[in-house]
Amino acid sequence: MARYVLYHLILLLINVNIVYLNCSTMEKRKCQECDSKLSGRKDQKFCSDYCRNTYNNRLNEDATKYVRRINTILRKNRRILERLNPQGKKTVDGILLAEEGFNFHYYTNIYTTKTGSQYFFCYEQGYLKLDDDRYMLVVKQDYVK
Ligand SMILES: [Zn+2]
Repeated sequence: MARYVLYHLILLLINVNIVYLNCSTMEKRKCQECDSKLSGRKDQKFCSDYCRNTYNNRLNEDATKYVRRINTILRKNRRILERLNPQGKKTVDGILLAEEGFNFHYYTNIYTTKTGSQYFFCYEQGYLKLDDDRYMLVVKQDYVK
């Protein structure tokens, strides 16, 4: 008799758990845009095409803004290097680049020579850091891929 009760008690617990799990996953299923409850397929993320489009458009907008911001920094860096280096080769102090608003965190590519020197480029305009916060400015040569 005791075994019979225990058996049904366990079955009851399992059922309660199943119901509980179903409820908790249902609660999480909301439209990612408007938070309205979803009742469709398990992989449904949005209540409507409108919400899906709104959500995706906003993501794309943020990505576009980010790309624009980086491009602006890169173009500014390029302009600064070009202005300071009209002859194609020149050595300047780092403080001058900083004063002009040069952003050292952004560049388009790095060229490493056989001896390990690293040229940083913003498009075709580049620089090599020397000792004592000096920078040798260069313009892209054919050897740079
Ligand atoms: Zn929605």
